[in-house]
Amino acid sequence: MKVKIDPDLCTACELCVEAVPDVFEMSDDVAVVKVSTVPSDLEDDVRDAADSCPAEAIIVEE
Ligand code: SF4
Repeated sequence: MKVKIDPDLCTACELCVEAVPDVFEMSDDVAVVKVSTVPSDLEDDVRDAADSCPAEAIIVEE
């Protein structure tokens, strides 16, 4: 599974970074994805983070 963040939508609330720090990190005041592929044991956490993103900026590619 892959995931990306739309930098034009991200409001830098940091929710995703707090929820899944092994996948998301802050960079230049937006959240970015730090892995090329989501580790399988973190896929559910990433889906939850995408559902919880208030800006709907997290795009999951199954
Ligand atoms: S949860 Fe959404 S809006 Fe908040 S930092 Fe992450 S991508 Fe940006």
